[in-house]
Amino acid sequence: MRLSRYFLPVLRDVPKEAEIVSHRLMLRAGMLKQEAAGLYAWLPLGYRVLRKIQAIIEQEQDRAGAHEMLMPTIQSADLWRESGRYDAYGKEMLRITDRHERDMLYGPTNEEMITDIFRAHVRSYKDLPLNLYHIQWKFRDEIRPRFGTMRSREFLMKDAYSFDLDLGRAREAYNRMFVSYLRTFYRMGLTAIPMRAETGPIGGDLSHEFIVLADTGESGVFCHADLLDKPIPTHDVDYLSDLQPIVDDWTSLYAATEDMIDMAEFESTVPEDKRIAARGIEVGQVFYFGTKYSDPLGATVTDDEGKEVAVHMGSYGIGLTRVAPAIIEANHDDDGIIWPVSVAPFEVALINLKPGDKDCNTANEGLYQSLTNAGIEVLYDDRDLGAGAKFATADLIGLPYQLIAGPRGLKNNEVEIKHRRTGERETVSTDAAVARLLALIEPERRDKI
Ligand code: ATP
Ligand code: MG
Repeated sequence: MRLSRYFLPVLRDVPKEAEIVSHRLMLRAGMLKQEAAGLYAWLPLGYRVLRKIQAIIEQEQDRAGAHEMLMPTIQSADLWRESGRYDAYGKEMLRITDRHERDMLYGPTNEEMITDIFRAHVRSYKDLPLNLYHIQWKFRDEIRPRFGTMRSREFLMKDAYSFDLDLGRAREAYNRMFVSYLRTFYRMGLTAIPMRAETGPIGGDLSHEFIVLADTGESGVFCHADLLDKPIPTHDVDYLSDLQPIVDDWTSLYAATEDMIDMAEFESTVPEDKRIAARGIEVGQVFYFGTKYSDPLGATVTDDEGKEVAVHMGSYGIGLTRVAPAIIEANHDDDGIIWPVSVAPFEVALINLKPGDKDCNTANEGLYQSLTNAGIEVLYDDRDLGAGAKFATADLIGLPYQLIAGPRGLKNNEVEIKHRRTGERETVSTDAAVARLLALIEPERRDKI
């Protein structure tokens, strides 16, 4: 992509309304524009990040055996009356009346609708296990939308729903999602720790929140320090096998949110020098809630003895539009964002130091072509601007590597690579630059772990 033709409205000044660093940086880097309280437009650079987050989630959900589909954002109130949640949900639900005076709502979550789909089509235990998910906009009329897309009113969520014959098999479905979440967040460059959590309005009695530690997080959390650098299960995990040992291994180290913390247990099971009491951001949550929705909605199957039984369900959410700022909270410095390669909007910023110079242009055009041909995503800063402004933009938008090419170096057939995270610089020959960048980037894509 040529920056001269791109839409990247970076802001020079720090927006006053933004209280936390990720919100400030998303506005300054031209990723977002607020349209109303808790409602945001994702501009091209931001949308590329969102799409990368989405692709990782889809790959890992599919691997774990979930099937992607798409349900509407608007739902009928009648379905929610069946489950009893229409009245229970309260003011967070955006209620709408259509032209025929029918009560509708903008979905805050989809347990009822997925249960309705299930009951319309599934009859037998032989069709189980089943896990269906979608990635769709949700609306919750949050009393205090804040921190940009971290807590917005409209937000993009991946929500998966599992259906199983009994508790034991529902636990297996829960474990599959648990393990796939460990992998999903790791691939995004996030350390997200599963913690015992309260179930809230979704209901049920087994739940974990996946939490990224950050001072600006809205939840108080308590956990064992060894969870921070615990290796995640790799690609050879077999989702059809028994995953309980992996889950037990993770949950054997204490971790709980402030709603669930048992101080006596925390202090007796975690050595003093390993105790972390901190703030965190909830990026995902998994729930097992048994027959809470299948009972009232009549979602049953016949078991192997021909008996009708209500299916055991779980649901599994990830907030995509919250993940993006959470990644920034964990990856930035005074100059701007530092994207992990796997979610970076582009992998390399190619900086032409002297666009007026014919030889310099030719060399830069050549590099742009070679990088693109090598499958590297490049944002080519070909604008007629001074080097200082280009460096500032590249640092602000946080692309993992900068390839800097100017007349002085090119005279000796040399260019410079800057590592955004460490600030390290290396001079390489123009011919070797692409191979060097590829060697740096490929393992950091984390797509083969
Ligand atoms: P919170 O406690 O932060 O209000 P929640 O527990 O009500 O969130 P869930 O029902 O568990 O949210 O939704 C699944 C995921 O959707 C959350 O883990 C979070 O990542 C995301 N999410 C929920 N509410 C919002 C919001 N208002 N803005 C952005 N993302 C959200
Ligand atoms: Mg939650």
